[in-house]
Amino acid sequence: MTGTRRAVADTVRWLMARGLYAGTSGNVSARAAGGMLITPTGVPCDDVSAASIVAMSADGTARGRLAPSSEWRIHLDIYRRRPDVGAVVHTHSTAATALSCLRQPIPAFHYMVAKAGGDDIRCARYATYGTAALSRNALAALAGGRRACLLANHGLLALGQDLVAARALAEEVEALCAQLIAARAAGRPVILPAGEMKRVRAKFATYGPRASLR
Ligand SMILES: [Zn+2]
Repeated sequence: MTGTRRAVADTVRWLMARGLYAGTSGNVSARAAGGMLITPTGVPCDDVSAASIVAMSADGTARGRLAPSSEWRIHLDIYRRRPDVGAVVHTHSTAATALSCLRQPIPAFHYMVAKAGGDDIRCARYATYGTAALSRNALAALAGGRRACLLANHGLLALGQDLVAARALAEEVEALCAQLIAARAAGRPVILPAGEMKRVRAKFATYGPRASLR
């Protein structure tokens, strides 16, 4: 478990290095035996270390000296409902958060949208941060095996079979959001038809050694 604690802390650093995570605005978790390991609440990302990662059991009981991230419910509920998911990354990265304030899905303006598991990336309905309502809304937006969604007026959620896959998807979705903002500033993006997105998803499923969750 020490190795996973370090991997969670390293993921925070990886996200910081790419400008996706700053201050205390984000959280990272990984599935662990009997529950999960998650970043603590209120600890600036510069100070997050393996020792500060909080262990939480499947019933929501936290162990250790620090309290878990205020969004622990979303993480725990995802692990309960999604056996395919081994890690969750949540950020307030700029472009994804900007688009979340429009409360609209990210349409199939680019084939890479299919990386998140659908023809679009949904925006979960707004609820106050840290509430069970927000967790329910996020799970609804992720229904159908989707691996990413926006949270209205809040940020981004990315899932993966492990931390490397989840952080890569968070980076990818943030890039897509920046591209969509740029395309809309220049004109009206053409949306790819459903048949094309289906073809792309089928290609992703067979491309590379672990393509389905990368
Ligand atoms: Zn947040």
